[in-house]
Amino acid sequence: MTEKQYGGATGRSSGNKEFALSKPKMPSDKSKEKDSSKQKAEVDNSGIENKDNYIKAGKIASEVVKYAREFIKRDMPLLEIANKIEDKIIELGAKPAFPVNLSINEVAAHDTPAFNDARTASGLLKVDIGVHIEGCIADVAFSVDLTSSEENKKLIGAAEKALANAIETIKESIAIREIGKEIEKAIKAEGLMPIINLSGHSIEPWSLHSGITIPNHDNSKEIKIEEGVYAIEPFATPGLGSVRDGKPSGIYRVEREGPVRDSFAREVLAFIYEEYQTLPFCSRWIHKKFGTRGLLALRRIEEAGILHQYPQLIEISGKKVSQAEHTIIIEKSKKTITTI
Ligand code: MN
Ligand code: MN
Repeated sequence: MTEKQYGGATGRSSGNKEFALSKPKMPSDKSKEKDSSKQKAEVDNSGIENKDNYIKAGKIASEVVKYAREFIKRDMPLLEIANKIEDKIIELGAKPAFPVNLSINEVAAHDTPAFNDARTASGLLKVDIGVHIEGCIADVAFSVDLTSSEENKKLIGAAEKALANAIETIKESIAIREIGKEIEKAIKAEGLMPIINLSGHSIEPWSLHSGITIPNHDNSKEIKIEEGVYAIEPFATPGLGSVRDGKPSGIYRVEREGPVRDSFAREVLAFIYEEYQTLPFCSRWIHKKFGTRGLLALRRIEEAGILHQYPQLIEISGKKVSQAEHTIIIEKSKKTITTI
């Protein structure tokens, strides 16, 4: 998944303001507490906590990408694609770190099928996959052209080239703007625009977007890359190059704690805390576990202000968008792409 910047002049639906402002704080603080108490014993000498789990999650993500690239065909139900990918992650011994995002054409990100979704694969399809082992996440995405369009191929090529250049550039102590500059340059060289209000992100255990962003353009920020785990994810478009919030996606994350009156809804919430903690999940998963009652409970929990629901992200001029993403571990003098 990707991180949307809400600070700039680009579109933001006012209803999300409070969520967006409080977004990074509570879940990551909570997950750090949880993590340090539970996993202190596993710290190795590299400075990266739980490095082995990040590597394992990345390897599984990479296998799932190969599998998905083979079976995804035009007109296949999105539901079937999502289920096959998520089942494969579990079969290989990990868990989905977030619902598979299957976003078509001008939808840049944060679209996942509902339990009764009838849509099928077409056009320029972005497949964004998250895998975790004990909260250690691999975040990877690719785009496929399902219409044999030259424009789609060019868009995909531009995102992939930008990602390759960004991976080449990133290292400990470099300013984040330098990485964004490379992404912007590679995409503009193709006569396209990067999506400037979507970015890559640092990753910490149980925290998909943990604080530092990797911009997709030169954003003038001198913030330095530290040792850690990062997802880099350029988006390319022939459009204006930013996204607006679209429909609710059915993808949620626990944002704050709070009371829920209905006892069944409390049961569903207990499951969410236990199974997903602070990671994104979706209504389709709740339906699978609890049936239609689960969806009603989910609404009660959302109404109690406990959840953030991600909006779909739509290119502002309605043009197609491509995406490429890898997760990379940055150490003092070493980088490891976990998802390749
Ligand atoms: Mn991401
Ligand atoms: Mn992603």
